[in-house]
Parts: sequence; structure tokens; C-alpha cells
Amino acid sequence: PTIRELLASGEKTFSFEFFPPKTEQGLLNLWRAIREVEALHPSFVSVTYGAGGGTRDTTVDIVERIATDTTLTPVAHFTAVNHSMAELRNLVGRFASVGVNNILALRGDPPGDPNGEWIKHPEGVEYAGELVKMIRACGDFSVGVAAFPYKHPRSPDIATDTRRFVEKCRAGADYAITQMFFRAEDYFRLRDRVAAEGCDIPILPGIMPVTQLSTITRSAQLSGAPFPADLAERFHALGDDPEAVRNLGVEHCALLSQELLEGGAPGIHFITMNRSTATREVFGLLGAAAARPRAAV
Ligand code: FAD
Repeated sequence: PTIRELLASGEKTFSFEFFPPKTEQGLLNLWRAIREVEALHPSFVSVTYGAGGGTRDTTVDIVERIATDTTLTPVAHFTAVNHSMAELRNLVGRFASVGVNNILALRGDPPGDPNGEWIKHPEGVEYAGELVKMIRACGDFSVGVAAFPYKHPRSPDIATDTRRFVEKCRAGADYAITQMFFRAEDYFRLRDRVAAEGCDIPILPGIMPVTQLSTITRSAQLSGAPFPADLAERFHALGDDPEAVRNLGVEHCALLSQELLEGGAPGIHFITMNRSTATREVFGLLGAAAARPRAAV
């Protein structure tokens, strides 16, 4: 199925994100995680697209193998970095030829320093919206885009960011997935801003459980916003007990997911870092909670 169809059904989607590893051992870990997640029958799984040439091919190989060897529906992340339009079209063709018709269209960041100057490939695209249009013109693809609860770091302000996001969606996107965040209200604010611009695209919250204290620092860099201070305090208070940190991370992620779903989020997209245990635990807690109201009907 396409992600467009899955979301149109009105059922909440649950999805897991993986990244293409650089080593043989990494690949073994990835496949173990994919197989473990497969048993949960998620709506889809996605595979990120690296900036380096090697991991790009790995993305194509992994989504192909997911499409052919598993029961899972793969979504291929896809970036415009260092690609000409001809190369981009060619890659879309490769995805189609291996049975992958779900693509997350991203501009990508400059290789090396993600905050460095963005330089468009002379025959490439400047913004993700152009990529969306190109992919839609290539055939029957369901296309997703990125959303940023705290605005994209390169956007001058929230209002401009929202307007450009809506334009990108109107270029032909079916849904969006957010950058990670840790408070439900940050997601709801984004959704309401987008709705206020007259756009009702489904926005899937992208979230990740904190499994160790270093995740807090890393995720602050990734999300583009400081980690919530009150929550950070709770984690730091457990500092010398890795098991307790992890348990709090799983518990918080499950509560966050529940709040998002109850507040109308169309699904949850879990960032796994190729280690599925914590996200599977979150999913388990969530499944138990979700089963209660259903059982009562
Ligand atoms: P754009 O939508 O092109 O936006 C970039 C900037 O340009 C923003 O400030 C925007 O407001 C502005 N802009 C957009 N359109 C216009 C316009 N028409 N005119 C003027 N300004 C405009 N990166 C990877 O390398 N690989 C991945 O697999 C990957 N997966 C991701 C998954 C998710 C869910 C998310 C949220 C991000 C992911 N990223 C990935 C990171 C992403 O590539 C970067 O954050 C990148 O800087 C922005 O990509 P974008 O598609 O949002 O860009």
C-alpha cells in the first residue's frame, strides 16, 4: 500500500525509522532490528538516506530487500544533496524498479557540516518542494516531506517557515513527518499553525525514546531546540543508573505517544537508531493502553 492509502483509511499508523549502517556488523544489527519490528506489523518502516555515496546505495539496497524479503512496507528517504536532476530522476526510477513507491522527499543538509552553507548542485534542486514535484511527475508515488516543530534552523521565523512548509505540501506531498521533539504541545502548535494556513496534510510525529543521558545532548542538536529543562532534570537525577534512565525514557516516550494520539495525531513514527528494543517496549506499552478502550466498545 502507499502511505497515502494507509493514512486515508483513518487507522492510526505506527512506523519505525532505520538508517543505513556503514559496517557489516551494523548491517547485521539493522536486519535483526527490522525482523524484530516486523513481528509488530507496523504500518511502514523508513530508511534514511546518507550524504555519502556509499550509504546512498545502501539505502536503495535495504529498501529493496525490505520490499522483496519482508512483509513490511518500506519508505525510502531521499535527498537532493549533490545530485543533478537527471541523477535524482534515475534514483526515483531505481526505487520504482525495486517496488518502492513511497518516498520521503528531503533537501538534505550540506555534507560535512550540516550547518554549513547549502550549495545547490548546478543542475539540481534548491528546495524540497521541487523534489516533490519531480517525484510526482515520475509516476504513482506517495510522497512525504519533513516538518519542523521549532522551525527549520535556516528559516528566518516561524511564520515564514509555516508558509513555505505549506507551499511544499501543496507541491504534491501526501503527508509529513516531524523532526524529533519531546513535548506534545510543540507538535500541536505546529499542526495548528499549518491548519491556520488552510492545510490539513497529515503530520506524523517523529519521536525517539531517551535511552541514555547522551541522547539528551544529541537530540537537542538534532531537534534544533533545547531539551525540556524539567524533563532533563528528571533524567539527570537518575544519572548513575543507566537502567533507570532507560526505563524513564521508555515511559516518557509511551506517555508522549499516547498524548499525541489522543490529541489527534494520525500515527506515531519511531526513530529507532537501528536498536529496536526500546521502541518496541514503547509500542508494547502503547498497544496495551490502546487495547483498553477498544475492548470496552
Ligand atoms: P526544505 O523544505 O527545502 O527547507 C529548507 C529551508 O528552505 C527551510 O528553511 C525552508 O523554510 C526553506 N524553503 C523551502 N522552500 C522554499 C522556497 N520555495 N523558497 C524559499 N525558501 C524555502 N537528512 C538526510 O540527509 N537524510 C535523511 O534521510 C533525512 N531524513 C529526515 C527525516 C525527517 C522526518 C526530517 C524531519 C529530516 C530529515 N533529514 C534527513 C534532514 C533534512 O534533510 C534537513 O533538515 C534539511 O536541512 C531540510 O530538509 P527539507 O526537506 O525540510 O528542506
